[in-house]
Amino acid sequence: DHLSAAAVTSGPGRTADGHPVALLANIGSARDLGAADGAEGVGLFRTELLFLDRSREPDLDEQAEAYRAVFAALPGRRVVIRTLDAGADKPLPFLHQTDEPNPALGVRGLRLARQRPELLHTQLAAIARAAERTGAEVWVMAPMVSTRAEAAEFADAVHAAGLPRAGVMIEVPAAALRAGQLLQVVDFLSIGTNDLSQYTFAADRQSGALAELLDPWQPALLRLIAEVGAAGRAAGKPVGVCGEAAADPLLAPVLTGLGMTSLSMSGRALPRVRAALADHTYPDCERVARLALDADDPEQARKAVAGEP
Ligand code: PEP
Ligand code: MG
Repeated sequence: DHLSAAAVTSGPGRTADGHPVALLANIGSARDLGAADGAEGVGLFRTELLFLDRSREPDLDEQAEAYRAVFAALPGRRVVIRTLDAGADKPLPFLHQTDEPNPALGVRGLRLARQRPELLHTQLAAIARAAERTGAEVWVMAPMVSTRAEAAEFADAVHAAGLPRAGVMIEVPAAALRAGQLLQVVDFLSIGTNDLSQYTFAADRQSGALAELLDPWQPALLRLIAEVGAAGRAAGKPVGVCGEAAADPLLAPVLTGLGMTSLSMSGRALPRVRAALADHTYPDCERVARLALDADDPEQARKAVAGEP
């Protein structure tokens, strides 16, 4: 047991029988890279930090410098950078967004690019410039996408900026249900379970009172993840999870069995998830995924997967 624990503290994530699952880190700036030491790359680079507490948008040069600090530290590695996810739980004062009665259901994430296309174009230009000659494998993804048309528009903008890999987050049930159609126009999908839970259960992600509904073991959420996994397999394209759910070591084999090809989490969660994967064969993962999907509720799902009566 101790030997196998030592053997799995670094290197690519894989199951006991060698099925690869990329283990990636969630970061908000280059400062978070220290904690991401054992990661194969970055699965979610949230770019909001740079835009917070500002009266004006950071210009192209300033953005490029911040992005380059991350890309340059990861030559040969994957860095999935997310375009601005403003609105709802991430309000940005400089945008002067009009008050909406339900900001979580309003103009947020990629929806803002329709109203303010210059924001997206400047950011993509900054990402393209920052990526030059760093050797990092830069993948660009959009938050809060609902339809294939939105995904296609985003992919066109990414390619027009000279960036080869475009993807979208799956945070809205409509997008999960149409994952196969989205994969016709993008290269990869990444499930944001924090928002996907919120929108699936109509439960504010910041509400402690609704924590039971927001539990990532809810079979309805797992059903949507399975939908995305099946679409990824059919298309032969990467699909991962980058929400909090990816950091749960008991859930990692379930997510793998549902077809996820990567798990992205805070750096400190990586070792335990890596060890959990190394402890299961891929057929084991498929078996526990089935158990979790067939459970009546989160508690029963956890127990079934943990092998408790
Ligand atoms: C998510 O919604 O799960 C996610 C990863 O994005 P954020 O938490 O930044 O909204
Ligand atoms: Mg989100």
